[in-house]
Amino acid sequence: MRIDIATLFPEMCERVFGESIVGRGIKNGYLEVYAHNIRDYTNDKHKNVDDKPFGGGTGMVMQAQPVYDCVKAIAARHKIPPRVIYLSPQGKTLSQAKICELAKESGLILLCGHYEGIDERVIEELNAEEISIGDYVLTGGELPALVLTDAIARLQRGVLPNEDAYSIESHYDGLLEYPQYSRPEIWNERKVPEILLSGDHKQVVEWQRKMSLENTKKKRPDLYKAYIKKAFESFICDMKAVCDIPNYAIFSAVSLSDEMLKQVRRGKLRTLDIDKEKGEYVILTDEQGLPKFAVVITEKILNGVKFRLIYKPKKEETND
Ligand code: SAM
Repeated sequence: MRIDIATLFPEMCERVFGESIVGRGIKNGYLEVYAHNIRDYTNDKHKNVDDKPFGGGTGMVMQAQPVYDCVKAIAARHKIPPRVIYLSPQGKTLSQAKICELAKESGLILLCGHYEGIDERVIEELNAEEISIGDYVLTGGELPALVLTDAIARLQRGVLPNEDAYSIESHYDGLLEYPQYSRPEIWNERKVPEILLSGDHKQVVEWQRKMSLENTKKKRPDLYKAYIKKAFESFICDMKAVCDIPNYAIFSAVSLSDEMLKQVRRGKLRTLDIDKEKGEYVILTDEQGLPKFAVVITEKILNGVKFRLIYKPKKEETND
């Protein structure tokens, strides 16, 4: 992949590419990154690239001509026409999903504004996509362009040791990562969670999955809610494909402990201490809120209800 940054401050970008993981990735040929000075493309004899805004107001505006000529000259060096991205506080906020999408491109041109920004006509003419790194304003687009380049670079084959190095990380699948620990086992009287020292790989993976969900619920309830919503939608869709569920059926959710879910899976638990009516549909979730089974209430009893399991996903049938 080739990334070209069009900027008034190329040295600022070049210093960053020389360092660390991305720098190594470039040296080893896993991606190419170049910075170009927009000023080199101005037709102005004094090498100016900005002028006062029409309509008045403070600050200067980057003029269309040098920006356009710079981007066109860079694009001519690409075999496939590259996507042009204007880093701008007015763009859509950058996300990991967007990074994954852009990482598949063969080439990108990242356009950095300065001062009051760039003459609007050149953004339109270049059909540039606007991307913001957050709802705040920086003095220039260089830091956002470097953020984008770094995040894209680490997804290029060879830059990180393997796919796990980025796929089991925050935001990749909509969740935050589980907490990480390293030596020593006890620091400032704080112990590393016992399970991580157990050597039981299956249990460790299960712990990490749970902590990832709990971490997300605590730190980013918005992401957690979206993740659970998606899980329910996919659960209900899979269930409706194989079960005859009446259209009027409304499902409520009840959370059970891992032990109780195990009993449900084995058909050993058939009653629950919950307040529901006969005929009601219920989705049983784990303690993190993920849907596991669907049941229908068959009878009200003294301290709760009897139920019948109507759906368990394929992966749950073997999970014991
Ligand atoms: N006048 C512009 C506005 O109010 O929308 C802000 C211009 S800003 C001072 C100068 C340049 O910094 C922008 O053209 C853009 O390239 C970059 N920039 C500033 N904040 C940014 C952000 N949050 N994300 C991406 N780029 C940003």
